[in-house]
Amino acid sequence: MNIHEYQARDLLAASGVAIPRGAVAKTPEEAESIARSLPCNSFVVKAQVHAGGRGKGHFTDGYKSGVHLVKTPHQVRDVAKHMIGNTLVTHQTGPEGKPVHAVLVGESTEIARELYLAIVLDRDSGCPVIVASQQGGMEIEAVAEKSPEAILREVIHPGLGLQPYQARKVSIFLGFPSTGLRAPCRLLHATYRLFIEKDCSQVEINPLAVTKGGDVLALDAKLNFDDNALFRHKEIQDLQDPSQEDPRDLAAAEHHLNYIGLDGNIGCMVNGAGLAMATLDLIQAAGGKPANFLDVGGGASEAMITAAFRLLQADSSVKAVFVNIFGGILKCDLLAQGMIAACKSNPPRVPIIVRLQGTNVEQGRKLLQESGLPLIPAEGLMEGAEKAVAAAAGKKGK
Ligand code: GDP
Ligand code: MN
Repeated sequence: MNIHEYQARDLLAASGVAIPRGAVAKTPEEAESIARSLPCNSFVVKAQVHAGGRGKGHFTDGYKSGVHLVKTPHQVRDVAKHMIGNTLVTHQTGPEGKPVHAVLVGESTEIARELYLAIVLDRDSGCPVIVASQQGGMEIEAVAEKSPEAILREVIHPGLGLQPYQARKVSIFLGFPSTGLRAPCRLLHATYRLFIEKDCSQVEINPLAVTKGGDVLALDAKLNFDDNALFRHKEIQDLQDPSQEDPRDLAAAEHHLNYIGLDGNIGCMVNGAGLAMATLDLIQAAGGKPANFLDVGGGASEAMITAAFRLLQADSSVKAVFVNIFGGILKCDLLAQGMIAACKSNPPRVPIIVRLQGTNVEQGRKLLQESGLPLIPAEGLMEGAEKAVAAAAGKKGK
């Protein structure tokens, strides 16, 4: 789960990380009055969306950048007026962008150095890892590509926690003098504490700014939480903003489906995460692009299958559906019944390729055949993938 920058700032501040003064505004008037209450004479106004790259982004009406530096409260109001109700497109939002319903109004910081700091879960070591670089502000992926030596990765033992020597090592790598390690070390410990306490999968501070006055401030913050641990954090769940989520993901979550939207055009309905991933690979291998990952689960009910089917049908980018089910706990005849019910209430608008194997496969195939539904049967995995790719491209299956 993602949250907004203004929410992430509050969590960081509560853990002891220094942030610039500021507050969130939902109207231009509110933005102006926040600016008037700040003891400074230059301001930053930032569009609040669940995506990075806002500085280099643009709005769908042509207005430039989701991060503006201005001099007066009146200008703050003006910028807020352009942003609120508008849609911001960045390289992380996809071409459709994300709606802006709020802006963060803050005092502008005089930056001496822009650093990069993140704590993420490292899948290789199975530990949290600190990722740090002096080349902050820009995309860390670009730094990793051009100058990988400019990035330090410090793996933290989850049982021991962040050790003082590690905090010093990272701080020195970030260019702090040996006499000035206190502030960055404190910040690192505070950030790590937040990462662990709130079950984050990512805490990214980019830029971590060193000000002209020598302070160390989190100027931007992106927090990501492990969905499987959200039940332990009611206060985090409350920060959810459905306006920022993919509507397909929201519908899937409502029916407890394991769903991830992708950007291809072949809708997939599969049981078991392993088979689902293999199916995505096979579609790619056959020259196609999957529109989603969808694991209906080992013991899916008829209602879940109906919901899954409806979800795929409702996705306008889906040009063909590939149903690939291995009947184990979920028996093939039950799946067939679910599909028939779903098709009756919601007639298919795209070709449907069905591959069934496993328990009660004969009964399942018979039910589908007798249903009179225009389904394209497939026996083998690759055959199914190829038929789906052909159908999505508008070619008739064999
Ligand atoms: P992002 O583009 O979504 O990552 O948004 P950021 O909050 O990171 O802002 C992008 C860039 O704007 C930063 O890397 C800074 O260079 C600049 N910026 C943001 N806030 C301030 C500020 O208070 N003062 C100054 N001088 N620059 C800022
Ligand atoms: Mn940033």
